[in-house]
Amino acid sequence: MSDQEYDLVVIGGGPGGYVAAIRAAQLGMKTACVEKRGALGGTCLNVGCIPSKALLQSSEKFADANKHFAEHGVKLGKIELDLKAMMGRKDKVVSNLTGGIEFLFKKNKITYIKGEGSIPKAGEVAVKLTDGGNETLKAKKILIATGSESTPLPGLDIDEKQIVTSTGALELGKVPKSMVVVGAGVIGLELGSVWSRLGAEVTVVEFLDRILPGMDGDIAKQTQRVLTKQGLKFKLGKKVTGAKKTKTAVTLTVEPAKGGDAEEIKADVVLVSIGRRPYTDGLGLEELGVNKDNRGIIQVNESFETNVPGIYAIGDCVPGPMLAHKAEEEGTICVEMMAGQSGHIDYNLVPGVVYTWPEVASVGKTEEQLKEDGVDYRVGKFPFTANSRAQAIGDTDGLVKVLADKVTDRVLGVHILGPLAGDILAEAVIAMEFGASAEDIARTCHSHPGMGEAVKEAALAVDGRPIHI
Ligand SMILES: Cc1cc2nc3c(=O)[nH]c(=O)nc-3n(C[C@H](O)[C@H](O)[C@H](O)COP(=O)(O)OP(=O)(O)OC[C@H]3O[C@@H](n4cnc5c(N)ncnc54)[C@H](O)[C@@H]3O)c2cc1C
Repeated sequence: MSDQEYDLVVIGGGPGGYVAAIRAAQLGMKTACVEKRGALGGTCLNVGCIPSKALLQSSEKFADANKHFAEHGVKLGKIELDLKAMMGRKDKVVSNLTGGIEFLFKKNKITYIKGEGSIPKAGEVAVKLTDGGNETLKAKKILIATGSESTPLPGLDIDEKQIVTSTGALELGKVPKSMVVVGAGVIGLELGSVWSRLGAEVTVVEFLDRILPGMDGDIAKQTQRVLTKQGLKFKLGKKVTGAKKTKTAVTLTVEPAKGGDAEEIKADVVLVSIGRRPYTDGLGLEELGVNKDNRGIIQVNESFETNVPGIYAIGDCVPGPMLAHKAEEEGTICVEMMAGQSGHIDYNLVPGVVYTWPEVASVGKTEEQLKEDGVDYRVGKFPFTANSRAQAIGDTDGLVKVLADKVTDRVLGVHILGPLAGDILAEAVIAMEFGASAEDIARTCHSHPGMGEAVKEAALAVDGRPIHI
């Protein structure tokens, strides 16, 4: 047992855990963070947000050079892919960022312990050290931030070579001729886009009869249209029920979700991306009696404390969207409340972005949700074809859709398919945090020529008075 007692021991160094540790140290808590991966940054920095965005950027440059430079009057010779260099760049981006967090830990005097943590009892964290041996830490408070893992699909054995999760899909050594993506959610569409741009024939198989479940239906339909134009094929309303593997290919059995004749689809690589599930293996939560729901999600109160006093949890392993920025917000608020401050997160205003090209970005209620809730609303839409900046850069696919309360005009949801939609969305999130009306956005001066003008125009369109359409 270590003699030192920590105010806080965080288990898991992902965006939830490392941000919580830094904020706790800023608040004067003696803090340790236990991470078993060998690098800080969690799923997000190591095998999630960052490597996927690095490959999305590189593959987009490749696709641009192949398909769009000529439109801009830029003539290139033969264009070749250097996949090794592309992967090397991605790895460098990851190591720069994970190393940066290690630096921040030192700067904030956080003890970084490499190893696997478990909780024998409240007030104690036992660590199986990566370099051998064990250490037990005394902790006034313990924060579980152990994140999530890919949800497996029965019948498909992951080998990370032919049948892969997102982790394997970020590491392929060559471009497959064909790839089947199982699941048309965010991760499937992003990584499907990467390999499609690099030359793979990509087929996305989805159980539901739509892509991007949970996002605004209108926007999802248009996204499917754009991605189809880019070469992705979609098989919707289908379920994968089995896989046969040879040395060179995988043959999937695919059945209509509502029943009917099965078909076979052959591919070099299959990406299973049907979602993620909380990861809390080996922590000892069952023995401690920490409440989880039937999907393994840890149950917490509004202070992120579990039913066992002194044990808290945040991020992907508690309810809410599995997103890095949600985990970060929770980490910050959780430790601020531990320090006696107040904190609050509005889960309705957690933005969601799909980093395909064009991007899809969303905040607040979808049209389907408003209908279901019986809310009277008005809709304003504005297409990027009518936005001068989009015309100038040559990226006119997509639109902005603003949903506002019919009576009060308060903005209830903003959904964008378009170039840099994820960044454009930020103004909508802030507007909604401040309870803005569509009129407020419409009367805000937006710089010209800018993509943001499409948001202003969509807000004007709520009242039937857009200028440029
Ligand atoms: C391919 C992909 C792309 C994504 N893209 C985005 C995106 O663009 N934007 C976005 O917001 N989100 C994205 N996500 C989701 C995002 O990565 C997660 O929501 C986020 O990482 C959750 O943070 P966390 O801190 O809760 O958990 P994690 O990041 O999963 O971190 C948990 C950490 O805990 C460690 N750990 C687990 N158990 C123990 C233990 N017993 N002892 C010690 N350490 C332990 C793990 O090794 C891990 O490093 C993506 C995910 C994937 C897979």
